[in-house]
Amino acid sequence: MSRNNERRKRILVTGGAGFIGSHLSDRLLAEGHEVICVDNLMTGCRRNIEHLRDNPGFSFRLHDVTVPLDIEVDEIYNLACPASPVHYQRDPVQTVKTSVLGAINMLDLARRLDVPILQASTSEVYGDPLVHPQPESYWGNVNPAGPRACYDEGKRCAETLFLDYHRQHGVDIRIARIFNTYGPRLRRADGRVISNFIVQALRGEPVTIYGDGGQTRSFCFVSDMVDGLVRLMSAGEARMGPVNLGNPRECTMKDLAGRILQETASRSPLVYLPLPEDDPRQRQPDIGLARTALGWAPRVALEAGIRETVGHFRRLEAPGGDRTGPATAGDGLQNTQGGSRTCFPL
Ligand code: NAD
Ligand code: UDP
Repeated sequence: MSRNNERRKRILVTGGAGFIGSHLSDRLLAEGHEVICVDNLMTGCRRNIEHLRDNPGFSFRLHDVTVPLDIEVDEIYNLACPASPVHYQRDPVQTVKTSVLGAINMLDLARRLDVPILQASTSEVYGDPLVHPQPESYWGNVNPAGPRACYDEGKRCAETLFLDYHRQHGVDIRIARIFNTYGPRLRRADGRVISNFIVQALRGEPVTIYGDGGQTRSFCFVSDMVDGLVRLMSAGEARMGPVNLGNPRECTMKDLAGRILQETASRSPLVYLPLPEDDPRQRQPDIGLARTALGWAPRVALEAGIRETVGHFRRLEAPGGDRTGPATAGDGLQNTQGGSRTCFPL
């Protein structure tokens, strides 16, 4: 344990069985903390936390954050929410409920316990941005009636709730505006661009570029993101406003496809499919605030991050590597939708 017991905290990570949440749990445990992972397994999976099963500092509770939770903890990271457009648009009402009711329930808990709480917000609060790169001061350009609104407006409302709980009730909050994040533990059926492209390339299937591929994103490797989240939580109340976390290096989807084909030595053809409605044309974080306030900047280059992520998918695709696993959300696991159950330690 790298910390002494006095500083050991009991930390709640909602969405802890998901992609970012499981890496965050690893990091917090490595720092000597106790982690309680709460997840309904809608898009997360047990495989992400299986390696923590025998860790005495880790426990998992199957629970939907739309239902209030009574638990004693010292800190809360609220990550529960599907993040991929494919998954958050599948049950948009549940997506809004997760963002809004989940935020209320976790903020009520933080208020009762008088503990800090961090919200995993998103670059989607900027919508299809008219200001580029996007600073925290930009109010965004979101279509409130489109198919992405369940996520974008849900997350915007969650930010409002966080700030109002701070102003009205003095809750100690942090808001991380997370830009596109990738790395090992992304699921093959996640539906986001990096996992799609890598799986298609490894299988020799056509790589699906939506639109003309000229739209841009800026991709942050997951270890950098986790470091930013932990720093933001440690930064104290002075940093209560939203903070962008992401890698400012911007690339087009066509360029990304080329890099992935090169890394996988794949001969997959490119196919061009219609651009999804309201798909943002460009996205790049202005991370000036994170640099100065948190001393944070991403360190993993896109090439290195893609190499590591390709390695993860190669292992999944290898013979015996669960290639035939379910290609739908939740990896075949139930979702609680209203219940709560402690699952392990079993
Ligand atoms: P993910 O889908 O892998 O993880 C989300 C987790 O939340 C899953 O384990 C899922 O089962 C769980 N969950 C969903 N609804 C729930 C509910 N009602 N109750 C309890 N658990 C629930 O996604 P991720 O990429 O790890 O994203 C984590 C967080 O970061 C999300 O809040 C997402 O909005 C935010 N974020 C992620 C990115 C990114 O690029 N990965 C970008 C911006 C914001
Ligand atoms: N995209 C693509 N092919 C895919 C999946 C996504 O070209 O198979 C595009 C998508 O249209 C968007 C970008 O890649 O312009 C990023 O999409 P993703 O779903 O990963 O994240 P988000 O749109 O939420 O940033």
